[in-house]
Amino acid sequence: VTAVADDEADETEAIGPASEESRRAAAVVARALEAIAAMLDDQADELGRIDRIAGDGDHGIGMQRGSRAAAHAASRAIAAGAGARTALQHAGDAWADKGGGTSGAIWGEMLVALGAALGDDDAVDASALSAGVGRMKDAVMSFGKATVGDKTMIDAIVPFADTLRDRLAQGDALLDAWETAADAAQAAAQATAQLTARLGRARTHGDRSLGTPDPGAISFALVTRTVLDVLKEDA
Ligand code: ADP
Ligand code: MG
Repeated sequence: VTAVADDEADETEAIGPASEESRRAAAVVARALEAIAAMLDDQADELGRIDRIAGDGDHGIGMQRGSRAAAHAASRAIAAGAGARTALQHAGDAWADKGGGTSGAIWGEMLVALGAALGDDDAVDASALSAGVGRMKDAVMSFGKATVGDKTMIDAIVPFADTLRDRLAQGDALLDAWETAADAAQAAAQATAQLTARLGRARTHGDRSLGTPDPGAISFALVTRTVLDVLKEDA
């Protein structure tokens, strides 16, 4: 018996019961992860280039490997009947395992936190999704102890999560709210170019990061844009 077969047996065992609605949500999650992995295949060189200026240059390859592993893990879990929580749990574990680096661990935490918020029973509506995005934000902040202005992906996820929540509270439809939030994330990610890194790998290089945006913030904003396209297809 190979290690791979053992892994897959464990995965199948871990798939608990899920409602029809949650399995539908899990299918959207899998499509989103597939789209994210394809987008990151295209963007990996550029993300690596940005990370090389002030960091160690592995951000593109890490995001590419992590998202690909997450997409595969989600599809396998869904084939075995997983709901949203379980699919995202498997995807997050795979991303952390195969992505490596700080961003791999953080994306793993984020997907698991989103899954915990969505559960395996309920249908996922706009307010559930927004609450889940809020939990992703909380997970990143408690994981790395960074805050807004430290030149990390937090600088993109905070405006994204807060704008999404606020626009929905104002009565915007999900797609409009998500688009406004994705624009806010992109603007905030670009604006990190003006900051000096205080945390993460880049901190040891100090001012070398000035004039270059944070790679994790840029990739986070790209992901929100890709998910918007998937949500549009699903609408
Ligand atoms: P590594 O830093 O291990 O090389 P990556 O290059 O894949 O990992 O990811 C770097 C990104 O991780 C940074 O651009 C930043 O956005 C994010 N990051 C690093 N440290 C933290 C932290 N403490 N909190 C949140 N995000 C962080
Ligand atoms: Mg790096």
